[in-house]
Amino acid sequence: MTDEHHDNHSNFIRTKIREDLQQGKHEQVVTRFPPEPNGYMHIGHAKSVVLNFALADEFGGRCHLRFDDTNPLKEDMEYARSIMRDIQWLGYDWGEHLYFASDYFERFYELACKLIRDGKAYVDSLSKEEIREYRGDFSTPGRPSPYRTRSVEENLDLFARMRAGEFADGEHVLRAKIDMTASNMVMRDPLLYRIMHVEHYRTGDAWCIYPMYDYAHCLEDAFEGVTHSLCSLEFENNRELYDWVIEHTEVPHTPRQTEFARLSIGSTVMSKRKIIRLVKEGFVSGWDDPRLLTISGLRRRGVTPEAIRAFCEMVGVARANSMVGMDKLEFSIRDDLNHRAPRVMAVLDPIKVVLTNWPEDTTETLDASFWPHDVPKEGTRALPFGRELYIERDDFMEVAPNKKWRRLSLGGAVRLRHGYVIDCHDVVRDEDGQIVSLLCTYDPETKSGSGSTRKVKGTIHWVSVEHAVPATIRLYDRLFTVERPDADASVDFTSYINPDSLVEMQGFVEPSLASDPVGSRYQFERQGYFVSDDDSTMGALIFNRTVGLKDTWAKIQAKAAPKAETPKEPKPATKPATSEREKPQKKTRAQERENARSADPELMAAYERFTQTLGLDAEDADVLSGDRDLVAFYEQAISAGADQGSVTNWVINELMREVNDASVAELNLKPEDFAALVSLVDDKVISNVAAKDVLAIMLETGDTPDAVVEREGLRQINDQDALRGIVQGILDANASQVEAYRGGRTKLMGFFVGQVMKGTQGKANPQMAKELLLQMLG
Ligand code: ATP
Ligand code: MG
Repeated sequence: MTDEHHDNHSNFIRTKIREDLQQGKHEQVVTRFPPEPNGYMHIGHAKSVVLNFALADEFGGRCHLRFDDTNPLKEDMEYARSIMRDIQWLGYDWGEHLYFASDYFERFYELACKLIRDGKAYVDSLSKEEIREYRGDFSTPGRPSPYRTRSVEENLDLFARMRAGEFADGEHVLRAKIDMTASNMVMRDPLLYRIMHVEHYRTGDAWCIYPMYDYAHCLEDAFEGVTHSLCSLEFENNRELYDWVIEHTEVPHTPRQTEFARLSIGSTVMSKRKIIRLVKEGFVSGWDDPRLLTISGLRRRGVTPEAIRAFCEMVGVARANSMVGMDKLEFSIRDDLNHRAPRVMAVLDPIKVVLTNWPEDTTETLDASFWPHDVPKEGTRALPFGRELYIERDDFMEVAPNKKWRRLSLGGAVRLRHGYVIDCHDVVRDEDGQIVSLLCTYDPETKSGSGSTRKVKGTIHWVSVEHAVPATIRLYDRLFTVERPDADASVDFTSYINPDSLVEMQGFVEPSLASDPVGSRYQFERQGYFVSDDDSTMGALIFNRTVGLKDTWAKIQAKAAPKAETPKEPKPATKPATSEREKPQKKTRAQERENARSADPELMAAYERFTQTLGLDAEDADVLSGDRDLVAFYEQAISAGADQGSVTNWVINELMREVNDASVAELNLKPEDFAALVSLVDDKVISNVAAKDVLAIMLETGDTPDAVVEREGLRQINDQDALRGIVQGILDANASQVEAYRGGRTKLMGFFVGQVMKGTQGKANPQMAKELLLQMLG
């Protein structure tokens, strides 16, 4: 097992890119973020942005911003602009690499004509319903459309007339001619183009046929030279079509699609479609309502780009979908604000305190630190203290409820932050008997910082009545009352809206805040983190609560800490805790595994064994414990003597692809043989690339890896001298590149390694090749 696997065990994408580079597949890593401009960005998109830009950055490559605007129905330049603003705000820069899929419409069209000419596409004139019916389902093979045999000439003519606007929506479609009986439903003659007489926000009415995602997206990637096209798991089955289009259009560049798990967060909805409803139906005040997990909402709520990036990195990339609790996001936000938000005082629900022994009309100015706790920062402000103060109404109880009461009560004492200890002697009531103010005395010997020895149980916050600045304070809470408001399609998610998700208070803040710029962030002591809202003005301050201080996630982490070194998110197998009803819908694989485990204690035990005894991380353990055959296969492969970590990687990255929807038991593969293959790679007898071929042959023939390696001559070249000769040959044959490299274009290393691999049919030990190249070029 190599070091890379140890370093980034959880980030399989990074590992893959590194392998690709080592094998010389690319000179430069090119990724892309491909939003559709049909709504504002949310935190799920941020995860994709962070992933794509950070990977490009890490490998010295570049990341494109490409608007995937091939569906004119809901797209708009306003959305495109907001997306650009949000990406920049998050701290990423696409430089000159801004693209619009709509700029490629003509090229898409030409390639579609090529497919027709090659007999790979045809115009179908069945109705939408008929197309669906002819397609069959998982258990029924599809039937060919009667139009499938149209001649090339007829297809070209019809397609041209589709473009020219001669037909109405739905009259014809263009389909790929692949295989109506394919087990992967996506491959049953997928639609490539449909007619839509709709104006496009960029191309106007130039087009009335529009390409489908599966046809357009891979070509966009190819046109731009994207090397690693990362998308979310629901496109797993579409990968076959992605590769088909690339192959049959014969575009010169071959991008590769890799899937990762979408980010889902509890207690909220994230899809643009649902957020649009919340906005349009007035459940929230707009796309930037601080209760939404849109980037603009989070910004208005006071969250920083750094916190969002840290969160995305903490969540990481996984192969299995899972739900991340809101508490984890809140943890990242607090962790970030803790170091940036000065501590100040605000009273949200005031009650007046009168210090009867404080001289009338006098004010003392306290020098109060902005950072009174353990954050090592300096800075103070002048804090006026006088005869009349506001404290929080619920910091007082006439009769202390128990001995643990750490606030004020009649006859009790409390310390005022930065000020003095006060004793409460009496209360003043209105006609209804409600307490309107407290009569207290201050203890002059107890000024903060004076070294007073008087001990009281608690410290509370306050503001001076005379200097207090009135402010509207918005307390935001989770927008939904349940973890998964959209779990049940038969209940509208809006019925779970939390009626208390916004509570507005009229309170007071200390005077130092009055002239701070909009967007300033604070910790209101004992209350939480707040930001001054965009609509705040000098005369009418508004503060939004970003997040409270309570830190439940930290507690969960602390509990988990003794067991695992790196805190993993709570097991993905948790069920929604509330009364949500679950309805059998199309299940994701992750859900299927989860269900299988809850039904089968043996699988549950395997999961525990994998995490506890073998030390696998939660995602890997999840993938490996979904069915008994796989568990048995995996454990037998390990006990056959191969390195456990390598077996894990190979099962998850390679074997699971072969297994697909079937069971590993149906494969023509013995666990011992699989283990032997893994060991051949670990022992550097064969390269990674070669091993993939060997596995494919093993699956076909049932042969042992040794037999395949010998027969195919795939032994890795590990002989320094032999390899040196090959490398020299490559350098001689590429004199101009050698010169360029020596002149500073060190990125050519990828090219050279690639040439060596090519020259040896993939058999050179890539690390050794690279070392030799470094020596010999240096
Ligand atoms: P939604 O379903 O929320 O409307 P979308 O996938 O339709 O989102 P796009 O604009 O098509 O939105 O997405 C742009 C990119 O962001 C895609 O590559 C997509 O895979 C990725 N993405 C969208 N949502 C998430 C998510 N929740 N987690 C990770 N990546 C996401
Ligand atoms: Mg979409």
